[in-house]
Amino acid sequence: MLKINNLHAWYGPSHILQDVNLEVKKGELVCLIGRNGAGKTTTVKSVAGLIPKVKGSVKFEGEEILGMPAHTRFARGLAYVPEERRIVPGLTVRENIRLGLLASPLRRRESEVIDEIAETFPRLKERLDQAAITMSGGEQQMLAIARAVASKPKFVLLDEPSEGIMPLLVDEMFEYFTALKKSGVTILLIEQNVELALRIADRAYILDQGQVVYQGTAQEMLADQAIQERYCAV
Ligand code: ATP
Repeated sequence: MLKINNLHAWYGPSHILQDVNLEVKKGELVCLIGRNGAGKTTTVKSVAGLIPKVKGSVKFEGEEILGMPAHTRFARGLAYVPEERRIVPGLTVRENIRLGLLASPLRRRESEVIDEIAETFPRLKERLDQAAITMSGGEQQMLAIARAVASKPKFVLLDEPSEGIMPLLVDEMFEYFTALKKSGVTILLIEQNVELALRIADRAYILDQGQVVYQGTAQEMLADQAIQERYCAV
């Protein structure tokens, strides 16, 4: 479904991604892991269309998307939830969801989306009219995810969703990812919490200094303590 071939990316003169090759098949949950600065965020931002200087090929459902603007990729069903969340702190949960719907290529009724979100995320249901800024980091992250999923994407890129979030919410979030995958959504997940991520993933890639240095099934990687220690320590 997503095929990255010979991907290179630069920030100014810095050559960050150096020939990244990665594939995510339809219905899979693939985990992208690696140390800080390895190039994980740059990889998913390149897929989302947010890195100006890139070279190579990124195919989504067989179509080359590398030259497309970010909003066109989103309209094709490719959603990106950045690490920094990008919700509007002064607006309520409901208003943030409304904004997300305005940006969405689908014309969904707000009430239908709110009902769906309330059923899936009880924490957000209780806080629909609360300003987003007054919620915990984990609840804000849930809102960012709920808002992205409301546009019914086929594929979700998740950048470190569990970063800075209390363990109870992380468990809830990971249960939700498993349910999202079961509903047919394909997922590429960047995660520092390697063990937890590998427990829900089908396969994983390790990036190091802008290159894929290891790939395998989640089970293989879970069993390989040496590789985890070598590449996954922060
Ligand atoms: P982290 O977990 O810390 O986010 P990462 O694996 O996602 O790490 P990237 O954020 O992709 O790594 O960063 C890869 C490299 O690119 C790092 O060396 C980083 O300093 C550099 N970099 C990232 N963003 C920029 C930018 N806007 N301008 C210049 N260099 C950048």
